[in-house]
Amino acid sequence: MECKDNRRIIIAVDGFSSCGKSTFAKAIAAELGYIFIDTGAMYRAVTLYALDHGAISSGMVDEDAVVRLLGDITIDFRFNPSRGASDIYVNGDLVEGRIRTIEVSNCVSAVSSIREVREKLVAMQQAMGRKRGVVMDGRDIGTVVFPDAELKIFMTADAGVRAVRRYEELRAKGDEVSLEEIKQNVVSRDKADMSRAISPLRQAADAIVLDNSYMTVDEQMEWFRERFREVASSK
Ligand code: C5P
Repeated sequence: MECKDNRRIIIAVDGFSSCGKSTFAKAIAAELGYIFIDTGAMYRAVTLYALDHGAISSGMVDEDAVVRLLGDITIDFRFNPSRGASDIYVNGDLVEGRIRTIEVSNCVSAVSSIREVREKLVAMQQAMGRKRGVVMDGRDIGTVVFPDAELKIFMTADAGVRAVRRYEELRAKGDEVSLEEIKQNVVSRDKADMSRAISPLRQAADAIVLDNSYMTVDEQMEWFRERFREVASSK
């Protein structure tokens, strides 16, 4: 699918934790031949680095220590054909398999609320989208990173449904987590992400809401194609 004038656009996908934003954004990007960027993976990668380098202990984030580490962190994405998506690397090390543990999930909202962390990652995200033709998912893409994105989607789903999805995903990978623990993490991350001072999670005024609680991925793609056609025909 293309816009009438073949112009490649920016698609922002924001929303609550564990809504399936990445699955959806990745499918859109594959269909359009766009680049998919999972910005949550970038905040998770910084959190993992902080855990590995002593800036977080017993779940307490030492903000000054995280800021001191920031200059040492280089993040890049490399396409992995077997996954059909990009893997994330920190200082050349593949960390894709280590960033979605419950330990990282429990600390990532505190790390992502640090001003310097956001400044660094937002600048990287804006550079990645400069050539357009990107689908970027996160919390502040339509509000802060690309406020002029041509198509903004705000995803939501019932909190219980989201917790079960994340639980099944982690169990399938062999992680010994409980549903209760996941539920608590999903709810507390949403709360922290919405109430932080800098770039809180909120729906952009011009975003379209997608509640996918009871929708399959195919149904979500049908929904998306209609929205994309509307944007394409208005150009
Ligand atoms: O998308 P994911 O759940 O992997 O994101 C992990 C965390 O990273 C979020 O809970 C949020 O604290 C942070 N995040 C953010 N801004 C983004 C993307 C993620 O603050 N654009």
